[in-house]
Amino acid sequence: MYPMKLAPAFKDYLWGGTRLRDDFGKKCDYDKVAESWELSCHKDGLSVIANGEFSGKTLAELVNENRSVLGTNCKRFEQFPILIKLIDAKDNLSVQVHPDNEYAQRVEGEYGKTEMWYIVDCDPGAELLYGFKKEVSKEEFAERIKNNTLLEITQSVPVKKGDVFFIKAGTLHAIGKGILIAEIQQNSNTTYRIYDYGRVGADGKPRQLHIDKAVEVTNLCPAQPYPVTEPFTENGAEKRLLSKCEYFTVYSVETDNEASFDADGTSFHHILVLEGNTVLKCGDTSLELKKGDSVFVPAGCGKYSLSGAFKGVFTRIDQ
Ligand code: ZN
Repeated sequence: MYPMKLAPAFKDYLWGGTRLRDDFGKKCDYDKVAESWELSCHKDGLSVIANGEFSGKTLAELVNENRSVLGTNCKRFEQFPILIKLIDAKDNLSVQVHPDNEYAQRVEGEYGKTEMWYIVDCDPGAELLYGFKKEVSKEEFAERIKNNTLLEITQSVPVKKGDVFFIKAGTLHAIGKGILIAEIQQNSNTTYRIYDYGRVGADGKPRQLHIDKAVEVTNLCPAQPYPVTEPFTENGAEKRLLSKCEYFTVYSVETDNEASFDADGTSFHHILVLEGNTVLKCGDTSLELKKGDSVFVPAGCGKYSLSGAFKGVFTRIDQ
């Protein structure tokens, strides 16, 4: 096995911008490039391997044929555990909520969705919607959806580059306009849309809302800010733990020289380059990576290095 550059799937949702193409080098001819699915074994948008022996295969095929690439920590997951995206919100995303595993597996036949957002870039004054201002009752929540006053009780949070939000399943949320994020989430595409600013989709009709299900799964208490952790230096890189939960562990990683990593047998690694250029070397494999590139390093590949000044997001699965 060897480190694999991944070609993403793209989504042209109506709120998307053009920055993933213009600033992040994504080759996609959609008018709007709302999302690139950087690490995905989800049927709605599969990552494709772009180098070496398995070039042209989907990552999902590789994983099916060779589950050991995931590492021993992934044995507890029946399916590929995570999905990583870049999201360019030129306009507001709908207000939405995702169910937890128990509900999603019972009702939708797939995983629930806990997710985390890393603010890669944003316009001055950009805000996102994160839970309620104060605890509300189910009745009030349902009533305010009906009479269009929901936004009076939701919490708007100003954001800046480098901020982190942990969106536990059940947390009401919406990415606001002018925000570009890296999203690490459970491998799921189940979203209950509650409020869509009265917009219509490409077909001229309002997009479907899922109000009954949303009221069932939404946590009615205010969401707590995620604790900010201190940066530390390790093996040539400055790192900061962004998020750690049962589904994923995510660090920001930055070096101006060379950083080394070890993909042991416990977990695969995923690196998403957000600034600069770097060369990944692992055994016979050498990969040039630039801003916007994604690489999957199978568990058991062993030691590898990244040389050249870059910043990125590093994800693995812990025990
Ligand atoms: Zn979401």
